[in-house]
Amino acid sequence: MLDLLNLPGVKPVDMYKESKALIIVAVADDAEAFMCPDCKIPMHKHGTRKNKFSDMPLYMEPVRLEVQRPRFRCESCGKMAMPELSFLDDKRRATKRLVDAIQQQCLSTTLRALADQTGVAVNTVKNIAHDLIKELEQTVRYETPVIMGIAEVNLAGGYRCVITNLATNNVFEMLEERTQDHLKPFFKDLPDCEKVEWVCTGMWQPFKLYFAEFLPNAKLVIDKFHVVQMASEALEEERKKYQIQLSKDDRINVKKSFRWLTLKRPDNLTPAEHEALAIVRQQIPELAIAYDFKESFFAIYDEPDKQQAQNAFESWKNSLPDEGMEPFKRLVKTVHNHYDDIFAYWDAPFSITNAYTEGLNGFIKMSNRLGRGYSYEIIRAKTLYSAEARKVGSGIRSGHGKVEYGPHIPTLLKQAESGELE
Ligand SMILES: [Zn+2]
Repeated sequence: MLDLLNLPGVKPVDMYKESKALIIVAVADDAEAFMCPDCKIPMHKHGTRKNKFSDMPLYMEPVRLEVQRPRFRCESCGKMAMPELSFLDDKRRATKRLVDAIQQQCLSTTLRALADQTGVAVNTVKNIAHDLIKELEQTVRYETPVIMGIAEVNLAGGYRCVITNLATNNVFEMLEERTQDHLKPFFKDLPDCEKVEWVCTGMWQPFKLYFAEFLPNAKLVIDKFHVVQMASEALEEERKKYQIQLSKDDRINVKKSFRWLTLKRPDNLTPAEHEALAIVRQQIPELAIAYDFKESFFAIYDEPDKQQAQNAFESWKNSLPDEGMEPFKRLVKTVHNHYDDIFAYWDAPFSITNAYTEGLNGFIKMSNRLGRGYSYEIIRAKTLYSAEARKVGSGIRSGHGKVEYGPHIPTLLKQAESGELE
């Protein structure tokens, strides 16, 4: 029989099909007589032994190797021995090459699909993936970001902390939770911590108090989207309040359309939404005013420099009426509580936001959906070690050797959309 196995120490002698796998029967090459390690005398042949191992799929069928090996026995002490097979994995009843192939694919496909292709139990595939992850954690190092983003994304049963390189749009690290217990050790072990010049994050008081201890040269900037989102939320509060005053027909109309008005900028409104806004202006002018306050707050970010932005905020604040518009007045307070960090946006070398990181929310939700039952560790590894996305933006830099920034977020998102990560 042709040696289709190409494994050292064994030859195939038969092949047949079982319901879920191809069975390849192989025999071990003749082994020289063993010496008993204890008695130092030759051992004698003592029958043969059959063992089954999973191997690489063949003709798109899972393969089980059935290997027959001679057994040896020491007549003096009764010890048994068999020839070792160097192609077997140390930990599993599988060939090394199968374990390697599973490792190569386990972060870019679902564990269930790999189990189906190879005939290996899902738990074993998971196990192999975890070994790979451990190895990656010890060997893969990404360049510390000069401009660092810290954001929360919802995945694998909780809010996780994603740390990004905002200059290159790469994922740098993912922590189980955005708490001091996780962040402090991360910062403490961060190599080249003095390289970090900017940190972009949400409004988050505890972090503000301690990050400078770990990042001596970093300046904090509050993410633009967190700031303007508060204006949308303020409008949303006003909308709910006025909703009740509309006639039933209008209410349905306005509820549907107006919810969108709180999320969209005027340029993106559909004709129907423009019409709904016109109805609102006529029937509940107070709500239209709230809409205009939201819009003029957003417009602060269109200002070209810090002084003009601060002036725009001042006049926005002064235009609020003495009575009413409470949600917007609370927004004023919040802006004052974080004033320097919000307006630091105009000090940064380019407009720093976590917009791409927020996009990752969609990506991670998708891999959650695809891999129901995936542990946090697997989803983290799928995000952090995606081979394709890691290539983008990384390379050789003179004097530094190989430099890697981490997986490129737009590439990760593209992969997720095209189903490559399934
Ligand atoms: Zn012996």
